[in-house]
Amino acid sequence: MDKMKSIALSILVVIVVFTSTAQDFDSLANHYARGIKRADVKKHLSIIASDEFEGRATGRKGQKLAMEYLIKQFKSFGVNDHNNMNYRQEFDLVQQENTGISVVIEEDTFKVNEDFLFSLPITENQKLSTQLVFVGYGIEEESYNDFKNIDVNNKMVLLWNGEPKKAELSSEWTNKRKVENLKNHGALGVFLIDKKVESLLEKYHHYFTKPKMTLATDKTAQFFTMRLSKKMGESILKKGGLKASKLWKKGPAKKDKFELSLSLQIDRPTEKLQGENVIAYIPGVEKKEELIILTAHYDHLGREDSLIYNGADDDGTGTTALIEIAEAFMQAKKDGFQNKRSILIMPVSGEEKGLLGSRYYTENPVFPLENTVANLNIDMIGRYDEAHKNDSNYVYLIGSDKLSQDLHDLSEQVNKNYTHFNLDYTFNADDDPNRFYYRSDHYNFAKNNVPVIFYFSGVHEDYHKATDTIEKIDFEKTAKIGRLVFLTAWHLANAEDRIQLNEQAQE
Ligand SMILES: [Zn+2]
Repeated sequence: MDKMKSIALSILVVIVVFTSTAQDFDSLANHYARGIKRADVKKHLSIIASDEFEGRATGRKGQKLAMEYLIKQFKSFGVNDHNNMNYRQEFDLVQQENTGISVVIEEDTFKVNEDFLFSLPITENQKLSTQLVFVGYGIEEESYNDFKNIDVNNKMVLLWNGEPKKAELSSEWTNKRKVENLKNHGALGVFLIDKKVESLLEKYHHYFTKPKMTLATDKTAQFFTMRLSKKMGESILKKGGLKASKLWKKGPAKKDKFELSLSLQIDRPTEKLQGENVIAYIPGVEKKEELIILTAHYDHLGREDSLIYNGADDDGTGTTALIEIAEAFMQAKKDGFQNKRSILIMPVSGEEKGLLGSRYYTENPVFPLENTVANLNIDMIGRYDEAHKNDSNYVYLIGSDKLSQDLHDLSEQVNKNYTHFNLDYTFNADDDPNRFYYRSDHYNFAKNNVPVIFYFSGVHEDYHKATDTIEKIDFEKTAKIGRLVFLTAWHLANAEDRIQLNEQAQE
């Protein structure tokens, strides 16, 4: 924002405010919204999405560079450090490779991602010797009981899918129910034969071998689930004296049970890392303890050798919008217009690893969640999707009415008064197959009963590819959605009454 011009304008604004009506108050907000400019979006994004930032992988150099850049901007706008946090909330992370897991059954060794799939996030490295028990279908009812005289406590269990054709069961035995029952019996884990394993590994090898990351405060898994290839499954059945071909045709008979010795070795390469959420806190004056949180994730997928995932849209655009929104609020503050409620602008990291930064915040909130009025989250706002090829003036809103109709109404009103977007609620449907409501950082707030709006311009062919680069971004659209978010936050922060939760959300 140009300084001289803004001083001149703010003098003008002061005059307007002295002859104040509700309408004039709107013009004040709009004045600061106009400070969010296309050229500034371009300037910041060309740094955040540059190769120098190496795709901003959580815990790595590029994410740290992006964090330093963000903090530098917030400082330059006059944002003060909150509580000596050095503008950041740090959290410890654990990353494990999905390798180094093997099972030895009666002298034969089976390996993860070759013979079986193992999809637990983080496990303790360990070696354990126990028994593998084949319990057939694993059903336990009066009329049909696979557990008669069989003890699975502290053992691994091999299960057969489905139910026997002739048995009369009180209700359906899904795999989920069978596994719950095994846990109740004290089993250590379950082996399931899955004919799809070979083709899954062929198609998605990259996905299954990808390292997993969690918060260091998360519990390690205590129950193991392995999905065995057909070949591994048949080899075990043979060791137990059963004929696989017969089982595939007829299923296991009641007497088809066996027990083998098993050892499980978990020796996954493990790395400790740290992530940070950036904290730019702008205290309010009248209702300081009440807070609006604005988020966007500044991490992305990082790099693979020379291939850099710049993440210009995902979520360079949201990150850039937050910088601009902070500047707009701070400009208003400098001009003497301070928000009633507080604003927390919080670029988060760890999103691409499973919404980790925002989850850490909601599990360790810097400001009490019950005083958090709303979370406005921006994730990918600079492109067009297939459904809006010829319409630059749309934005998807997700979640706005789920917890607070007040929030939805205020958001609609703001758009009507200022930005005039075509607000698209397609992905707000409860049965949206894409499940976007659960897929970005706002969800961690919604889960904690904080009303949210997720701003999104949809997916495109470069989503999560190294081709999500800056020259494809519509800077004006990004700036304009930034203005919509700023204005919505402004009204949430300055309204007389706090927005209320819907009745169903109150208990
Ligand atoms: Zn994203």
